[in-house]
Amino acid sequence: MRLVLLGAPGSGKGTQAARLKTALGVPHISTGDMLRAAVAAGTAMGLKAKAVMDAGQLVSDDILLGMLEERLAQADAKAGFILDGYPRNLAQADALDHLLARLGQPLDAVVKLEVPNATIIGRCEIRFKAEGRADDNPDTVRKRLGVYAEQTAPVADFYASRGKLQVVDGVGELAEVTARIERALQNEAAAANG
Ligand code: AMP
Repeated sequence: MRLVLLGAPGSGKGTQAARLKTALGVPHISTGDMLRAAVAAGTAMGLKAKAVMDAGQLVSDDILLGMLEERLAQADAKAGFILDGYPRNLAQADALDHLLARLGQPLDAVVKLEVPNATIIGRCEIRFKAEGRADDNPDTVRKRLGVYAEQTAPVADFYASRGKLQVVDGVGELAEVTARIERALQNEAAAANG
């Protein structure tokens, strides 16, 4: 299963990907986690990315594509993957398309988690207090939501225009949202098998 999870920051992509990966038997690839690991490791790329991330903006497409290409080349990704946090703009969606075509591994499904902004702001405030992620402070969350609306929302339209997008209500109990995603994936598989 090669799946892209779309959704605004705080929509639950990471939480749901972590729950789905065992059932699907594929790795959870979070570009945000990879960038945070680079920041924590103090690599040159991490140092460059940190300021951009703290400001709630997007790190350069080149850095992300290189990082993703390396990650998808690892053995565990041959079985598939759950991509969380990528693609985040149309250029990345296009780059992903080309990369996967080259690897002969097209996407099976794209699921978008829909959560109202007011709920997202509340969730990120809780995460800010619990985890202390600098970009979860309320001002930066508002900026990230702006970046999402401007740059990432068109990515959902891009997949919708190809009949690839499944929209799932991301509000509710964790298990309930997971079950909704699993149903959406079954619908997608049934449609693909025609
Ligand atoms: P996330 O954990 O997915 O919310 O990502 C945290 C931050 O990492 C984002 O606000 C961006 O600054 C950066 N980031 C993660 N994924 C990407 C991406 N695909 N393109 C550009 N920046 C990204």
